[in-house]
Amino acid sequence: MPHYDVIILGLGGMGSAAACHLASRKLRVLGLDQFSPPHERGSSHGQTRVIRQAYFEHPAYVPLLLRAYKLWHELEQRSGQTLLLKTGGLMLGTPEAEVVAGSLQSARQHGLPYELLERNQIAKHFPMFRVPDTTVGLLEPEAGVLFCERAIQAHLAMAADSGAELRFNTPVREWSGANDKSSVIISTATERFTADHLVITAGAWTQEILIDCRFPLEVERQVMFWFQPHDGTSVFTPDRFPVFIWQHPSGATPYGFPAVDGPSGGVKTAFYRKPFREACTATNIDRSIRSDDLEAIRKVLREFLPLLDGELLRASTCLYTMTPDHNFVIGHHPAHPQVHIAGGFSGHGFKFCSVVGEILADLTIKGKTHFDLELFSPARFRQTG
Ligand SMILES: Cc1cc2nc3c(=O)[nH]c(=O)nc-3n(C[C@H](O)[C@H](O)[C@H](O)COP(=O)(O)OP(=O)(O)OC[C@H]3O[C@@H](n4cnc5c(N)ncnc54)[C@H](O)[C@@H]3O)c2cc1C
Repeated sequence: MPHYDVIILGLGGMGSAAACHLASRKLRVLGLDQFSPPHERGSSHGQTRVIRQAYFEHPAYVPLLLRAYKLWHELEQRSGQTLLLKTGGLMLGTPEAEVVAGSLQSARQHGLPYELLERNQIAKHFPMFRVPDTTVGLLEPEAGVLFCERAIQAHLAMAADSGAELRFNTPVREWSGANDKSSVIISTATERFTADHLVITAGAWTQEILIDCRFPLEVERQVMFWFQPHDGTSVFTPDRFPVFIWQHPSGATPYGFPAVDGPSGGVKTAFYRKPFREACTATNIDRSIRSDDLEAIRKVLREFLPLLDGELLRASTCLYTMTPDHNFVIGHHPAHPQVHIAGGFSGHGFKFCSVVGEILADLTIKGKTHFDLELFSPARFRQTG
């Protein structure tokens, strides 16, 4: 049976980064994916992802974000590609809304640059938004757009360059850890491999791969839309239009991107938190675009970004893998210390791929990382049963 230092199960956003970091540290790496990444059946497609530092979800994410930016820039240099486009980011809501108040807290606590905008300043600088009187904005200059498929390709190319063996269209059927905790066995339909370590980065399939752990993960269906603005894309170019997240009083939280592909590509928008949740699995998700999907987003656009309520150019489904507290799961398997897990990214993980790849390499090689991962501990679920 072929033996490796480490096998990576899943080569999407997180697994491709882990492969890159582990292979560049001279380990013998095998990466396996059931499809051919980047692909459209998981969580890491659709051209763009928001990246930002003033993290409204929790200030504890900020040190990871600062490192993630550095690593994205290093990957850009090594690959010779633009992966991160700084456009600024506008967080909109009432002053008490989580996206505004939480971003402000993280920015102040970590000394990050930001500007607070009153309603009339938003109207002056970003006239395309139709904001209610109670709305304020937090503008973060460091925020921007990550090109997700390109990032995965770059990580995989670097991994292969450093000697990683990458096998696509190769689903892992089974894995097991040796009783003495020193190795793992992985089976595909036709082959078996052994390794000292296993990294599980299976995205929306995590639950199936880690059935014994009973992590409370829930997969959610999401839809991304690309609209042709009524005015062409003149006001939506990256130099005039930042990425934005708007916390609507109803709880629905739409977000969007500038037109990164020029006039023909349209403007991408979606819900970060939807007005209604739609549980599914990675296998049974309805990938068709329904009239209720379109109606829900158009209703919000008509209200606050009417220029965007134009022709629908394309739409695509995507999967969130949610934890109950919306924080990630990063750490070793409860029963197998030679197995590390990174999952449950709850719809906000992509910007962290670069740093999570590095963390997984540190955990695999050294058994530790200098980042505080308490928020992400797999053990937190045991306390709640
Ligand atoms: C619509 C949408 C918008 C988002 N917007 C943002 C954003 O703006 N900013 C942000 O930071 N994050 C965002 N996210 C979240 C982010 O994209 C995800 O957290 C991230 O992509 C998750 O990466 P992953 O590696 O866990 O999953 P994936 O990239 O899906 O990778 C998992 C891989 O595992 C493979 N796999 C699974 N099971 C097996 C098996 N048995 N054998 C072999 N291979 C297997 C799959 O084929 C897949 O390639 C968004 C997500 C969606 C869906």
